[in-house]
Amino acid sequence: MQFDAIIIGAGISGLYQLHCLRKLGLKAHIFESGTGVGGTWYWNRYPGARFDSESYSYGYSFSQELLDEWDWTEHFSPQPKTLEYLNFVADKLDLRRDITFSARVTAAHWQEATRDWHVTLEDGSRHDARFLITAIGPLSAPTMPKIEGIDSFRGLSCHTARFPKEPIDFTGKRVAVIGTGATGVQTIQEVAKTARTLTIFQRTPNWCAPLHNGPITKQEMAEIRPRYPEIFARCQETFSCFLHSPDPRGTFEVTQEEREAKWEQLYGSKGFGMWQGNFRDILTDRKANAALSDFVARKIRQRVKDQATATRLIPTNHGFGTRRVPLETRYYEVYNQPNVRLVDIKQTPIERITENGIRVGGLKTTAEQFDFDIIIYATGFDAITGSFDRIDLRGADGLRLKDKWKGGPQTWLGVQVEGFPNMFMVMGPHTALGNIPRSIEYNVDWVTGVIRHMRDHGLTRGECTPAGVQDWTDHVKALGEGLLSNEVDSWMTGINRNVEGKTERIVARYSGSAPAYRARCDAVAEGGYREMRLA
Ligand code: NAP
Repeated sequence: MQFDAIIIGAGISGLYQLHCLRKLGLKAHIFESGTGVGGTWYWNRYPGARFDSESYSYGYSFSQELLDEWDWTEHFSPQPKTLEYLNFVADKLDLRRDITFSARVTAAHWQEATRDWHVTLEDGSRHDARFLITAIGPLSAPTMPKIEGIDSFRGLSCHTARFPKEPIDFTGKRVAVIGTGATGVQTIQEVAKTARTLTIFQRTPNWCAPLHNGPITKQEMAEIRPRYPEIFARCQETFSCFLHSPDPRGTFEVTQEEREAKWEQLYGSKGFGMWQGNFRDILTDRKANAALSDFVARKIRQRVKDQATATRLIPTNHGFGTRRVPLETRYYEVYNQPNVRLVDIKQTPIERITENGIRVGGLKTTAEQFDFDIIIYATGFDAITGSFDRIDLRGADGLRLKDKWKGGPQTWLGVQVEGFPNMFMVMGPHTALGNIPRSIEYNVDWVTGVIRHMRDHGLTRGECTPAGVQDWTDHVKALGEGLLSNEVDSWMTGINRNVEGKTERIVARYSGSAPAYRARCDAVAEGGYREMRLA
């Protein structure tokens, strides 16, 4: 089929992009590998999955009708409700007629002669379009650990991003969870409520902070709704589009009493305040970070009864906030339950998965076999570039994007790649992520603006310049200097030892402020996109 634009992915980005291109009068179409809309919220059906951003700051802001008709029911919406929301949006905007589901894009090759993209699906069919928009998400390529015997397990096992649609009843079951990132933490605290036994295999503990979720009553929703303009305006002002913004003071510019009082207040407040609303220097000043880490360690020690277990739950190889902070609800108290065990796999590594469970051992201990009914892999994603690597994307010189980005991504504004004309990335590497729907709306509006400009001026080829890419990539790298998070292994620094070639840290994320990012992109648009090669 021939389209004006092909969008890959029907998540939050793809849905809004489709809506915007349709409004331009373009024949746009989404290919989506899932059987429904929702992207992240379609795939991540694991128990306990929910927002870490306040629900009312997370929904789409562009449509008054959507804002008027949708009620959030919890401050941090659970996955089923969010999936319902995205289905509501798809219905309301009548998007489904331009989406093909169960359609995985395997390749997209630029054709210079015709100035269009040839897109191939898993079923072998080919579809062509002038514009290609990747709306494939920064955390959508799940990765399984490389453990011997993984296929031999006879019970139920799955990655958190591939959970079955029918909820699993954990009652009476012996359950294992491998991984303690934001996903593992949410899973563990939920499964612990009903499982007969729950065994957590932890390689690296993470610094967590309390979520403080709660219901939103009809009355509260009626009070929130008129405040939407103010809520979204606030998100536009803050560093990462969350409702929280850093305290302009330095950690040691206040007295110890003031400092502790501030941290107590943040620890007791909803959402990301502890991470995003803290003193301005906690992620750049080692001493400040160490003091904050010490505060949170004390909290963990107070909440976990067995101090040997508490010690194992306190990170020692990175400071608070230098990795993405999982938000939790009684996560640490789970370890006080008699049916819960914590296995530190740095001490007792997993030897293999067996037919009946997991065998741990290592030099320091004798081998031990744990039997399970269910093994949950909360082992994360081949983040940021992984979803691009999984598609055979080839540009003007036939070079694969995966090869072009071997030493780390190189982009212009995080939106375009040199040699890949008419391809636009929404939430690609080097863009401002933060409170993601806010960033998505900006990104999509900007991409729509370029396409409108090209259409209005009869232009059929749009590409960034090598100098533009060099400037932006250097800028993104410079912004990352001095950030403690860039000295730590995590998905944010491109590390995933379950994936070949992802063992060296890279700068894949834009770590400047969202307002600065928008100002730079606005300037390009106001300058008539003269920074691009348009023909
Ligand atoms: P993650 O943060 O990358 O965590 C993966 C976990 O699996 C880590 O504990 C990791 O240990 C462990 N692991 C990986 N390979 C392993 C192996 N071979 N053996 C043993 N353990 C292994 O992934 P995630 O928890 O899925 O979270 C990814 C991101 O998704 C989050 O940071 C967040 O941005 C997003 N997320 C958001 C929400 C939300 O908004 N509410 C919820 C969940 C996730 P190491 O640390 O030692 O590598």
